[in-house]
Amino acid sequence: MKANKGNRISRIIAIVAIILLFAGAAYAEILGNSKTKKYHTTTCKLAQKIRQENKVIFKNVAEAKQKGYAPCKTCSPDSAPAAVSSAPAKKK
Ligand SMILES: [Zn+2]
Repeated sequence: MKANKGNRISRIIAIVAIILLFAGAAYAEILGNSKTKKYHTTTCKLAQKIRQENKVIFKNVAEAKQKGYAPCKTCSPDSAPAAVSSAPAKKK
């Protein structure tokens, strides 16, 4: 019985860790570079190269635009389905 209880606690910890991971990923959908004033999807190879001191995290493309950032031409975050919302895909 004792071992069973410990098992359950470690399982809860594992679940919480997974939830936190997902929550973190959802928040890091758009990465901005304060030096180049460009924003990227998190999967963009240029986004991986942003220095820690220049890295800005936006909730979505709209927020990045509002702060005066321009979309990266390599990953084109505007057309990427970054935000998993129910909004229909808009094209300019
Ligand atoms: Zn990019």
